[in-house]
Amino acid sequence: MSNNNKYSTLFEPVKIGPVTAPNRFYQVPHCCGMGHVRPQAHAAMRAMKAEGGWGVVSTEETEIHPSSDLSPYVEQRLWDERDIPALRLMTEAVHAKGSLAAVELVHNGNHAANMLTRAPVLAPSDMSIDFACPKQARAMDKSDIREFRNWHRNAARRAKQAGFDVIYVYAGHHMSLPHHFLLPQFNDRTDEYGGSLENRARLIRELLEETHDEVGDTCAVAFRFAVDEMQGIDGMQAHEEGRAVVEMLAELPDLWDVNVSDWSNDSATTRYQPNDGYQTPYIEFVKQVTTKPVVAVGRLTSPDMMLSMVKRGVVDFIGAARPSIADPFLPQKIKDGRIDEIRECIGCNICVSSDNLGITIRCTQNPTMGEEWRRDWHPENIAPKGAEDHALVVGAGPAGLECTMQLAKRGYQVTLAEAGKELGGRVATESRLHGLGAWKRVADHRIYDLQQRANVQIFMESNLTAKDVIELGIPNVIIATGSSWRRDGIGRSSRRPLKIASTMSILTPDDIMAGRMPKNGPIVIYDDDQIYIGGVLAEHLATAGHKVIFATPASMVSPWTELTLEQKRIQKSLIELGVTIHTGQELAAISAMGCVLACTYSGQSQEITCGAVLLITERARHSNLYDTLKTSDTKFQTLELIGDAAAPGLIADAVYAGHMAARNFEEDPDKVAEQLFRREIVSLQ
Ligand code: ADP
Ligand code: SF4
Repeated sequence: MSNNNKYSTLFEPVKIGPVTAPNRFYQVPHCCGMGHVRPQAHAAMRAMKAEGGWGVVSTEETEIHPSSDLSPYVEQRLWDERDIPALRLMTEAVHAKGSLAAVELVHNGNHAANMLTRAPVLAPSDMSIDFACPKQARAMDKSDIREFRNWHRNAARRAKQAGFDVIYVYAGHHMSLPHHFLLPQFNDRTDEYGGSLENRARLIRELLEETHDEVGDTCAVAFRFAVDEMQGIDGMQAHEEGRAVVEMLAELPDLWDVNVSDWSNDSATTRYQPNDGYQTPYIEFVKQVTTKPVVAVGRLTSPDMMLSMVKRGVVDFIGAARPSIADPFLPQKIKDGRIDEIRECIGCNICVSSDNLGITIRCTQNPTMGEEWRRDWHPENIAPKGAEDHALVVGAGPAGLECTMQLAKRGYQVTLAEAGKELGGRVATESRLHGLGAWKRVADHRIYDLQQRANVQIFMESNLTAKDVIELGIPNVIIATGSSWRRDGIGRSSRRPLKIASTMSILTPDDIMAGRMPKNGPIVIYDDDQIYIGGVLAEHLATAGHKVIFATPASMVSPWTELTLEQKRIQKSLIELGVTIHTGQELAAISAMGCVLACTYSGQSQEITCGAVLLITERARHSNLYDTLKTSDTKFQTLELIGDAAAPGLIADAVYAGHMAARNFEEDPDKVAEQLFRREIVSLQ
């Protein structure tokens, strides 16, 4: 790095207790769906962060004992000595790249249902489990507390043996016993662990002291603490008890990792928290209270904001989970002055959804996330071109853009044809909807890249026919022509077209995204898709002043968005916008006057008068061009259909498909089909 790099402050080493981080970039603990089940994939993913310049790289939650069993979610484990080798894979891989490895020890209290182990669920007081589960947690007595402290101490020792440099005590996200003891809503004890703040913080103090005692000679002890519950006066607030906790324990940890609770507030999506750096107002007091280094998060992707946070004395470390997922090489790009190349997180929480499903992490912006080990994909590097020279990509949505970018990186001459007047496909159109502005970053990143390359030719307003493609004479053709929303009502709940009166105004999401708004109201939005777009369109139309009635066969609005931690916010927002919500209702018919809805359970029907109906049911693939070319007499070297035209899905799926097609280009299709990906198979020894 040149001395005049304006961001050189971000690359200063920082001491954390007995260890020193090489720079200020700190990947805070984040889940990834790999954990103890996929240790090689996990080690490779964390190592990629270290290679990209993150000076500290952390695990996800690491269960310290079978009474903290998060099954079926896939997190890390340090239940006993046998878990050490799997975690050592990570520490060795991270150390090999010159970074520190951190481990987030956790006992989840009533947040773990112990479904696999069937162990009793523990909590400060008798209470229900954190989610609907037919058993309850029992209040820990003094011997339980002593045992728990021992488990934590032993796990810290095992973490040290596994090679970790930074070992966490964790009181955050409402997900851990230390946090539960601290918060009055979980703790109604009358002994020395309940009542006053000092009593409620006693367990944390003990854990910090005992962890220091056990491993503090060579390992730093970090404390992850949610300074604010974001519940106003009903919860812990940053400037009240949150501050008092930091004052009370100020010098005990070697590092303060501070954030807000719960997880949906900490990992807020851009849809409901558009501002990067949104946690700063809550955490900025911490450094005034402690002399120890502080790390904080808040979807920090702007180097200027990072620099200002360090210079203003708000943090010592730039914390990141999602920005490090979207771009593992973010620090390296800042170091090299390649700021425009940063792949910024769009705050969509597809990464979070993977963890909530117990599957390997995926990311909308970074298709290589989670594929480091199983497919050997690197976020910045791709194999150079083979024997072919030229490829045609048809369609510039997320699939076409990603495919073009990667093929161009490989060194091919790429021609990209787009029917419309702008690049980006569904990313461009969806990002015009209420709350989705940041999603445009998916297209922007790729368009910027293509603009830098001499081997890419882009043709706009070029709606190619099969004849056009054949006449172009390019032997390799990748079709990424997308999909459009159906207008006939066929979808999840009905495999037959709906009866629709010809005089009723019928709209689809594509109409609204193209700016065609309903002329008459109210408008019924029928959401049989149940993913995210229905709720977005309801917000979009209601915000624009339309009277909206929302009907869905689901039992809530946009049920899929529970996985992205947004569902409650969406339903709240619709209620506050005055949207009338009908759940458990299928659309039976559309008359000239309105919609006939039938109860999903009883079939009982009701008629709703409206002036327009927005049908959100299913998407039809645009595969005509591909089908025609496939059956033509012209033989192509490559003819492939990708993205939504092959299988409508998330934007993340389209980007992934584009990336995959570019990686596999010129590979033997049989070999590709056979290889699928490397699997971690349980040893039968
Ligand atoms: P995906 O998510 O798979 O990338 P999108 O629907 O976002 O799909 O994008 C598909 C893009 O393909 C759109 O921008 C559309 O205008 C373009 N397109 C569709 N058919 C053609 C065609 N025949 N020639 C050129 N571009 C096309
Ligand atoms: Fe960011 Fe979305 Fe990627 Fe998660 S999936 S890191 S929120 S871009």
